[in-house]
Amino acid sequence: EDFSAKRVRRTFVDFFKQEYGHRVVPSSPVRPRGDPSLLFVNAGMNQFKPLLLGCADPRSEMASYRRVVNSQKCVRAGGKHNDLEDVGRDVYHHTFFEMLGNWSFGDYFKVEACAMAWRLLTEAYRIPAERLYVSCFSGDEASGLPEDKETQQIWLSLGVHPDRILPFGMKDNFWEMGETGPCGPCTEIHYDHVGDRNAGKLVNADSPDVVEIWNLVFMQYNREGDGSLRPLPQCSVDTGMGLERLVTVLQGKRSNYDTDLFTPLLSAIHECSKVGAYSGRTGEADRNRVDMAYRVVADHIRTLCVCIADGVYPGMTGAELVLRRILRRAVRFSTEVLQAHEGALASLVPTVAHILGDAYPELHTETDRIMEIINVNEVQFLSSLKQGRRVIERTLNKMDGNTVIFPAAVAWSLHRNLGFPLDLIDLMLEERGMSVDKPGVERLSAEHDELQSRSEGDAGERGLHSDLQSLSELQSRGIPHTDDSPKYSYVL
Ligand code: ATP
Ligand code: MG
Ligand code: MG
Ligand code: MG
Repeated sequence: EDFSAKRVRRTFVDFFKQEYGHRVVPSSPVRPRGDPSLLFVNAGMNQFKPLLLGCADPRSEMASYRRVVNSQKCVRAGGKHNDLEDVGRDVYHHTFFEMLGNWSFGDYFKVEACAMAWRLLTEAYRIPAERLYVSCFSGDEASGLPEDKETQQIWLSLGVHPDRILPFGMKDNFWEMGETGPCGPCTEIHYDHVGDRNAGKLVNADSPDVVEIWNLVFMQYNREGDGSLRPLPQCSVDTGMGLERLVTVLQGKRSNYDTDLFTPLLSAIHECSKVGAYSGRTGEADRNRVDMAYRVVADHIRTLCVCIADGVYPGMTGAELVLRRILRRAVRFSTEVLQAHEGALASLVPTVAHILGDAYPELHTETDRIMEIINVNEVQFLSSLKQGRRVIERTLNKMDGNTVIFPAAVAWSLHRNLGFPLDLIDLMLEERGMSVDKPGVERLSAEHDELQSRSEGDAGERGLHSDLQSLSELQSRGIPHTDDSPKYSYVL
């Protein structure tokens, strides 16, 4: 059977459109419009937030939506949903992923939502029911939220075995968009990759053997600025299923990176590298972290392409700063671990467009611009990377051989003066069995912010990076920045 990603995506949309009268709505760009509570679009429901809150402009097209289906470009690399640290380490969290979703805005509720989901998975996609677990909200006394017994009953009536219906609390089964915004109890569907009778223990336990694939959220509240829960004017359904994880299941793989969404990209990365091909190892088995590097580069290049196509460029504040970090991590893994040549990252862009361009045509039309921006930024970072590595070497040479804590002042200077993401410094040191003096760095960062806000009356990220603003301006105009010379504030 053809379970290509393209087909799987289309089957989802067609199922809800043809079988249950849902209207197909395109993905919104990943840059959130008019929502300061978000860095990136992190779920399919973001663009429908006004509808869920009951405050959509009655003249807008959205106001007439009752049943909707789409596949949404999502980025989870900042804010409440931030998976950046997991990417590359595991095989099922990405910074960019596609979320397949269906919605009911004040139309159907729990019974229909569960029945539709179950039918799609077990009939259209033919996933064996014995491999599926469902979770239900167990309630939360502190918030006065009751256990969701109704949903348990619904799953039982759909024929789910009682042993495969599991209760979980706020962390896993109460979904929230961000610090504020629509939220509600949810019921999730998890897939057992092994077929083990004890797999239930691994649900929500960060195990690659049992992976969450679909979340059905029953939107009933809004989390207000003061932390309280305000009931919404109407009950809605908001679901989200990770396309990459679903495709992995349907293609009989254990890793998202072994599906057709990634394999052409991993081959293209191999072409640019001077190391062996991707072999899928994780953890300790992945010596020298070559496989992790493959995964990080494959993940990050997708995110870079999608973000740049949607007008988020690597820069100095907010989402732009996050994207800059992502770019720098990608450059570092590709050049240092995979020993790829300069310009390798940009050369992967057409492959990303080839894989995803059908679903998101802007990747085709924007290919040249994406490549140019990636190249400008890569050149710039490679020169600071070279200097940074020298600084680290020199510092290590001067240090007492027994110390494993790297001085905060040097780390902070690398960050401030050479624009090193702090997590990148962590990684570079971790490989040498060292770690940064984190409390020290936090102190320096706090002192810096303090000084900045006193001198400018402007606290926050803008102040923190103000001396790099000019560089950002050059970048945003596409002009390569050449003066990357270090400005050390102390003697090394
Ligand atoms: P997890 O517990 O695995 O981190 P989640 O509970 O944070 O997932 P939801 O917010 O419920 O995820 O999102 C709905 C669906 O989107 C998930 O069931 C999963 O299939 C998919 N998903 C979530 N985060 C990612 C990610 N970082 N990469 C790929 N798919 C993801
Ligand atoms: Mg998560
Ligand atoms: Mg989860
Ligand atoms: Mg979830």
